[in-house]
Amino acid sequence: MTERAVATYTLAPPASATAPTGSAAEANATPVAKDDADVAFDNAACIGCGACVAACPNASAMLFTAAKLSHLAALPQGQPERERRTLSMVAAQDSLGFGGCTNIGECAAVCPKEIPMESIARMNRELLRALLKRGRGKGR
Ligand code: SF4
Repeated sequence: MTERAVATYTLAPPASATAPTGSAAEANATPVAKDDADVAFDNAACIGCGACVAACPNASAMLFTAAKLSHLAALPQGQPERERRTLSMVAAQDSLGFGGCTNIGECAAVCPKEIPMESIARMNRELLRALLKRGRGKGR
């Protein structure tokens, strides 16, 4: 293969990339209530540093998981997979051996992004909601 042929091959998009899929939706076209936006922004601040897990005597990852779930559950864009995401993320943290939260609060005390314990309560509500919907055959 010549140098020119390599360049042509590299620059040519795959056939699937040329499908007329339209453009991305205008972000401001989807209204988000101020309270929901605040929850989403506050929880989106989590940087996944793991300080919460390291500080917790139970080695719980619930503050981290709660931040991710709270961020997405508060936004319209996070609704399509809301229950499935909750069930999957909770199952993943449990399968990896992280402990359960006993409300000690060391996680929130050391979090550099000030993710509050309230997020864990929100995650527990999300889990209950997902389990109830799954029980009714509406969760995935
Ligand atoms: S300490 Fe805070 S920023 Fe770091 S992973 Fe935990 S929740 Fe996220």
